[in-house]
Amino acid sequence: MLKDLIATETVAPEKCAGCGSSIRDRYYLLVADRAWHNQCLRCCKCLHTLEAELSCYSREGNIYCKDDYYRVIVANPLLLIR
Ligand SMILES: [Zn+2]
Ligand SMILES: [Zn+2]
Repeated sequence: MLKDLIATETVAPEKCAGCGSSIRDRYYLLVADRAWHNQCLRCCKCLHTLEAELSCYSREGNIYCKDDYYRVIVANPLLLIR
């Protein structure tokens, strides 16, 4: 599922889904219904930060860059059956 990265202005401190600490930055990312520090949003496979990308992919709570999403999900049709 393609997600647009949404930079959101912090109202109340939210916990980062990546590192677990609260977010005090003015802006954070909201992906897969969770909040992330800009630098904590990384592909779970290659650990490349996705901050500079304008989109990322999420599946079952894991975040993927485009390349890994296609490599992992599309190359494994069994994962698509749900
Ligand atoms: Zn974090
Ligand atoms: Zn990746």
